[in-house]
Amino acid sequence: MELPRCELVSWEMVERWSDRLEELIRGADRIPGVLVGLTRGGWVPSRMLADRLGVKKLYALRAQHWGITATPDGKAELTESLHAPLQGEKVLVVDDITDTGESLALAEEHVSSLRPGRLESATFLHLTHSKFRPTYVGEEVPRERWAWFVFPWNYWEDLRVLSRQAAGSPADVSAVRETLRERCHLDVPLEDVRRALQGA
Ligand code: AMP
Repeated sequence: MELPRCELVSWEMVERWSDRLEELIRGADRIPGVLVGLTRGGWVPSRMLADRLGVKKLYALRAQHWGITATPDGKAELTESLHAPLQGEKVLVVDDITDTGESLALAEEHVSSLRPGRLESATFLHLTHSKFRPTYVGEEVPRERWAWFVFPWNYWEDLRVLSRQAAGSPADVSAVRETLRERCHLDVPLEDVRRALQGA
């Protein structure tokens, strides 16, 4: 499998996108009453928005699409349905990124069947080729800048998968680190690669 070009996401970037989304939502005077975070990617972003917007009702909806790092796992699907009293509520569905946009489109369809009073969506990142555009976007990413974004909440999982793919047999930790740097544009400490390979 070809190793993907990656972009390492820092907590500072996460804070910046959260601030931007807060600004957009407050600016539009559209503070939601309920947040629905798509898990697992939208779990942390939705919690950060709940904090910033002072929203107490936060639910998780589990979606599955990209099973393994940078590998779409067939069609997007919602693995469970949401059991939450959303009728008449102002709902904001949150995810980390829209790439194909299938997960968020599916989530919105499901949430709208629960008859909210208003339904909007927000993501930190939006790939402009995505078939679904969220109402609020922290940052737009054009197709040419496509990368696998290594979010802080997925760091070890991504590193385990990528290190395993980059490893020869037997795995030489320095060589794996170099491959990650050259082919994935991922510059990580040697110790992290060692740890990732141990857990792989
Ligand atoms: P999608 O249905 O293609 O819009 O993406 C569904 C989920 O897969 C996103 O919420 C992310 O958690 C993950 N994902 C998809 N593309 C990327 C990417 N380029 N970088 C990091 N995570 C991604």
